[in-house]
Amino acid sequence: MSLLVMKFGGTSVANVDRIKRAAKRVALEVAHGKNVIVIVSAMSGKTNELVDWVNDTSQFYDAREYDAVVSSGENVTAGLMALTLQEMDIPARSWQGWQVPVQTTSAHSSARIESISPQIINEKFAQGMKVAVVAGFQGISNEDRITTLGRGGSDTTAVAFAAAFEAERCDIYTDVDGVYTTDPRVCGKAIKLDKISYEEMLELASLGAKVLQTRSVEMAMRFKVKLRVLSSFEEPSNKAGTLVCDEEEIMESNVVSGIAYSRDEAKMTLVSVADRPGIAAAIFGPLSDAGINVDMIIQNIAEAGRTDMTFSCPIDQVSRAEMALNTAKESELINFQDLLADTNVSKISAVGIGMRSQSGVAAKMFQTLSDEGINIKVIATSEIKISVLVDRKYLELAVQSLHDAFELHEVSS
Ligand code: ADP
Ligand code: ASP
Ligand code: MG
Repeated sequence: MSLLVMKFGGTSVANVDRIKRAAKRVALEVAHGKNVIVIVSAMSGKTNELVDWVNDTSQFYDAREYDAVVSSGENVTAGLMALTLQEMDIPARSWQGWQVPVQTTSAHSSARIESISPQIINEKFAQGMKVAVVAGFQGISNEDRITTLGRGGSDTTAVAFAAAFEAERCDIYTDVDGVYTTDPRVCGKAIKLDKISYEEMLELASLGAKVLQTRSVEMAMRFKVKLRVLSSFEEPSNKAGTLVCDEEEIMESNVVSGIAYSRDEAKMTLVSVADRPGIAAAIFGPLSDAGINVDMIIQNIAEAGRTDMTFSCPIDQVSRAEMALNTAKESELINFQDLLADTNVSKISAVGIGMRSQSGVAAKMFQTLSDEGINIKVIATSEIKISVLVDRKYLELAVQSLHDAFELHEVSS
């Protein structure tokens, strides 16, 4: 019996009517003789509300209780989806993460899936159940506590189930009809890609394109899961959506395939630190211990044995980073004159595997931003991406002008 994983994001299960609509999609697959594992997100806005409630209750909250609260949104939609399918005479049952179980690490609020036991669900399929509905985003740790997988984590639940059950494909239903050359909400000229390589999708996701959680792409790449992104609001069709696949399946790679952005970044500068061997380790060690996701780093030229060190990190990690650096200063691990945080910056990135063999992409990117009068604050590059930090007020303009400059409205996919 062939098995399909179908994941419905928050907007696709935003209310009882939308759940009915999603259930009809599932019914179509069942009518085609498939067993289906449905992974559901919480209703849109629900997880944000739950996170706010935790923050309103406790400033330095216990992460185990955070997970107990924020995982609950998915429990509601899983039960409602199973009930909706039953109303349609489709044998369905819901599971929460711990019931499967989805075993994870104990890193609360950003746990990683270690294993999924297919046994119980497979037994139910063998007994005639057609659809297993599983609450996304959650699992259970070795200490038997509920964990969550980080924001957007239902995508990762879906891919992990597709890998564990060797599903024929993992379909991610969302509120856009595929992966675009950039966020269609920011650039009206963005176009949908029919195919995108795992590597490019991985870069786009990790640089801010939230259409797929980064770890879900990593996992799909590792386990060779066929991954499709499509809209739950459009009529079903075999050609719908975007297929995330191996590079070899794409005839011609574009120099730049997409522009990603991360709106809420911060730029932090340690003013006047001693320029001595080991200083970078002394700064970034404590930051890493504090769980700060440091991204771009610049060390300025030293003058009289002292230098400035600048790095970027997500805006919501600024106070934790400040605490870690001030503690390191107090214990005389490092010494700096001042610690500055610029919280008005965004990161814009151009991504494309064609960059490996084509030069001039960085120059074009810098020229385009300069023509728009946008100042670049920090630059970082890798084999297939170039990222810059700019003032947040220029985010839309930067994305749109780069989309034009790289002629992404004409890309082939
Ligand atoms: P869901 O709730 O279904 O998981 P998300 O909000 O997490 O949906 O992801 C879908 C959103 O991702 C879209 O509404 C879109 O604004 C945003 N997005 C960002 N970059 C891209 C891109 N390159 N292609 C498509 N969507 C993108
Ligand atoms: N509900 C969770 C979130 O909003 C997980 C998800 O939707 O993927 O982050
Ligand atoms: Mg999402």
